[in-house]
Amino acid sequence: MLSVSREPKDAVVQPVPMLDFSRQFGEIREEVLAAITQVCDSQRFILGPAVEQFERSAGAACGTAHAVGCASGTDALWLAMAALDIGPGDKVVTTPFTFFASVSAILRCGATPVLADIDAETFNIDPEAVKKACHGHDVGAVMPVHLYGQCADMDALSKLADEQNLAIVEDAAQAFGATWNGVRAGALGVTGAFSFYPTKNLAAFGDAGLVTTRSAELDERMRSLRAHGMKKRYFHEEVGWNSRLDSLQAAVLAIKLRYVDAGNQRRRELAARYDALFAAAGLVGASTAEGVVVPYTDPRAGHIFHQYVVRVPKRDQLRAFLSDRQIGSEIYYPLPLHLQESLAMLGYHKGSFPVSEKAAEEVLALPMYPELREDEQETVVAAVSEFFG
Ligand SMILES: *Cc1c(COP(=O)(O)O)cnc(C)c1O
Repeated sequence: MLSVSREPKDAVVQPVPMLDFSRQFGEIREEVLAAITQVCDSQRFILGPAVEQFERSAGAACGTAHAVGCASGTDALWLAMAALDIGPGDKVVTTPFTFFASVSAILRCGATPVLADIDAETFNIDPEAVKKACHGHDVGAVMPVHLYGQCADMDALSKLADEQNLAIVEDAAQAFGATWNGVRAGALGVTGAFSFYPTKNLAAFGDAGLVTTRSAELDERMRSLRAHGMKKRYFHEEVGWNSRLDSLQAAVLAIKLRYVDAGNQRRRELAARYDALFAAAGLVGASTAEGVVVPYTDPRAGHIFHQYVVRVPKRDQLRAFLSDRQIGSEIYYPLPLHLQESLAMLGYHKGSFPVSEKAAEEVLALPMYPELREDEQETVVAAVSEFFG
């Protein structure tokens, strides 16, 4: 019989999905459904006690006195900056190697994004580049993005922020539970913005976000801004927006919050296992033409491995090879923001941020989530090994 399969000969194909949400749901199904039922019984679907309870627990988990739920991570960034009065005429420094929302939230506030290149090892914003970007500009804030679950260099950034009087707005969308010198993401800046988009390490059953802060004043302002600038019903003190958090999402998140630290710990173990498997296969240390560069963790960072990202010069060929074997992988992100068509008005061009541009060509995220099985990791590494022959 003729076979037209693209599967490699005499290899047993074991698919490894990039993510499988059903595994966690299978484990906490009863608890989550009970929490959802409770909201349905109460018929309170917007804000209310479920949201307040989640805000209290999430704030406590991050070590900030205050936390304000909102509709998404993108809105969390907007709320954080709007409450700081960042608007037209203001400049905010951030990285071009991030999800689009980091920059679009700055634009939505009416402010101007100023980009600064990344560190080649951590992929996070380079404090020296931030310093240069501030030179000659009147910059009001810096937005470090804790990419892949590893905090940016907050020692250097905090020092710079003190010297230049900058507010630090953390984009902690990928970093719930990550730490820097033992301090949690969200408590490292003036405000910390989180996303609970379903692929994040703390994930809702839809869109949801949160801003943490130590400031009672910012907390109050954000509560007003997320509900049309209204403290007293139908009296609008300023122009806000509708960015309320759904009670159903908050109820789901309150349950999942109980498991996030254990999940992060498991991610770290799985990351260490990937490192060991790649090393045992002889794929690290040699020239990158015959292997991969495994993630670098700064000793001050409590990395939570929201993503496990390797660097491979032959990235696109490797990805196609894995995909033929039904092994999931993803590219975060294939085009740095300064080269996005919609952001041409920022005036950057190819060559403006060479470290980010090279990273965009070489990074590859491999399957990583707490329920990933060890045999699946072995399948991934064996396939990478086969690719390099
Ligand atoms: C996911 C993400 C966001 C946006 O969050 P949404 O909830 O999708 O709006 C912002 N910044 C980064 C770095 C992200 O990964």
